[in-house]
Parts: sequence; structure tokens; C-alpha cells
Amino acid sequence: MKIGLIGLGIMGKPMAKNMLKGGYTDLLVSDLNKAAVDEVVAAGAKAASNREIGETCDVVLTMLPNSPHVKSVMLGETGVASYMKPGAVFIDMSSINPVASKEIAAELAKKNIEMLDAPVSGGEPKAIDGTLSFMVGGKQEVFDQFKPLLETMGASIVRCGEVGAGNTTKLANQIVVACNIQAVAEAFTLAQKAGVDPQLVFEAIKGGLAGSTVMNAKGPMMIEGNTKPGFKIDLHIKDLNNALDCAHAVGAPVPMTAAVQEILQWLHNEGCGQCDHSAIAKYYEKLTGIEIGR
Ligand code: NAD
Repeated sequence: MKIGLIGLGIMGKPMAKNMLKGGYTDLLVSDLNKAAVDEVVAAGAKAASNREIGETCDVVLTMLPNSPHVKSVMLGETGVASYMKPGAVFIDMSSINPVASKEIAAELAKKNIEMLDAPVSGGEPKAIDGTLSFMVGGKQEVFDQFKPLLETMGASIVRCGEVGAGNTTKLANQIVVACNIQAVAEAFTLAQKAGVDPQLVFEAIKGGLAGSTVMNAKGPMMIEGNTKPGFKIDLHIKDLNNALDCAHAVGAPVPMTAAVQEILQWLHNEGCGQCDHSAIAKYYEKLTGIEIGR
């Protein structure tokens, strides 16, 4: 099977390497960033133009920032889809608006190209060790056909419904993650202001009901003052904008999402947009004048 992957950022690069390690060695890659392409080529992939990917691949995957990037790469007169053969498949692993996923799938259906929306959770560490969680939308038979490919990158691959269901699930995931990070930052701030070391709070509560994957991954970063991304604040703003749009459209109340989005937006305006989303702790540090755990 010939595979094309477009988008070799923090996530796409290790995911490409895991497909190669998993035996999918006929892999063409493309990105605007040549250094990223060179790194994946050194691991065994072949650099290609988007046109070559469209013309020759049985399945095209994307790992791009947001809906406009996926639409501009795939659709339009010189988009990848314009070169794809009928019967080829498109799998978008980016986190985008589910409405856009459905629009793209409808365009591709006109050319007899099936689509899965297959966003992931787990961040860079799980992208590197191949244990991401995939949440997938699309036809059951297409899902069954490509599950082994996704298994080279993920430990959990769950079909959530038809196209768009993957990204709807991802929005739910991003609400839980953002609110959880805010709760951890707020709790650590309270502890430190009250004279208890946040490191000891973390040790004491991580194994109880308050413990979480988010707390284990992001708590130590807050305590060290480490804001290296991981997952950038600007990308989380993008996800929560999509979540708020979706919630408004379907009539779901999301007051917690709106509150944490305001904090992320304030941090973006303070120049923290490229920081890891655990830098929500910086909001509390700036308000209180403390440095959590330091
Ligand atoms: P990133 O910004 O590191 O990478 C995006 C890549 O896309 C970059 O290398 C960029 O050069 C490339 N790109 C942009 N436009 C392009 C185009 N027109 N043609 C070719 N390449 C193009 O982002 P990331 O962190 O890898 O995230 C990618 C997607 O995965 C996003 O939707 C994000 O929300 C999602 N995601 C990220 C994480 C994480 O922890 N980083 C976790 C889960 C999901």
C-alpha cells in the first residue's frame, strides 16, 4: 500500500516514523518545513510534492493545524484531491471543526474518495512511543480496512460514528483537558498561597480521585516552570473556538469551556501563544505574583 502524509510538525513527524517502523515503508511525505521533511526522509520515507502524493498514493493522510489548512491542501483546482484516483482514501488526523470534516467528505464523495476523520489525543510523548488514542468517524468498512495502519501510531483506535464524529469526540476531549489543566493550576496556586508546597500536594493527591493523566503530564511542568510545547496554547484556542461554535450550533451549554478559553486568549495576548497549554499556570502566577512550586 502506498501512503502519503502531509504535515510533519510536532505530531506528524513521530507518527510518520512509527508507520515506517510498523512496516508501512512505501511512505511519501510533504511539509512546508524542509528540515522536518529531511528528518523523516532520513528515517526511510521519500519526499514528494502534494501532486505526486495525490497521483500515486492509495491513502493520503494529513496532520495539519486546522480546518482551513486541510481544506486548502486537499480541495480546489490544485488540491491533493484533484489528483487522487477514484477508490483512494483520505484520512485526516488533524483536529479540525467537525462541520469542516463533513464538508470535505462531501466534496471527496463526488470523486468517489472515502474519508475518515481520525484526530488523536496523547500529545507528543504518545506520538513518539506510538500509543496515541484515535477517535474516528467514517464508514465501518473503511475504518476496518485502515485500523491496522492507525495501530502503528496508536494504542486505542475507536470508531465513534460517521464522518465528523471523530472531531466531535476530539472537541469533547479538548474541553476535558483544558478544564483539567485549569483546575490543577488553580489548586496548586491555592496550595502555595496557603503555605503548602505544590510538589507535595501533587505527590499526595495524584493517586486519589483527583489524579489524572493531565495532572501527571502537566503538573510537573507547572512546578518546573517548563513551558516548552507539547501542545501549544494557540492550538488549544483553535480547538475551543471549534468547540464553542459546535456547542452554539447544537445548543449545548459550555460555560466552563468559555471561561478557560478567556484565560487562554489572555495568555495569547501576553505573548504565550506558542507556550505549552500547561502555561495556564502563568495566568495564576501573573495574578498572584507567585511562581508555582518555586
Ligand atoms: P505543528 O504546528 O507542530 O505542525 C503542523 C505542521 O503542518 C507544520 O510542520 C507545518 O509546516 C505544516 N503545514 C502547515 N500548512 C501546511 C501546508 N499547507 N502544506 C504542508 N504542510 C503544512 O502542529 P502539531 O502539534 O503537529 O499539531 C497538528 C494537529 O494535531 C493539530 O490539529 C493539533 O491540534 C493536533 N494535535 C496536536 C497535539 C500535540 O500535542 N501537539 C496533540 C493532539 C492533536
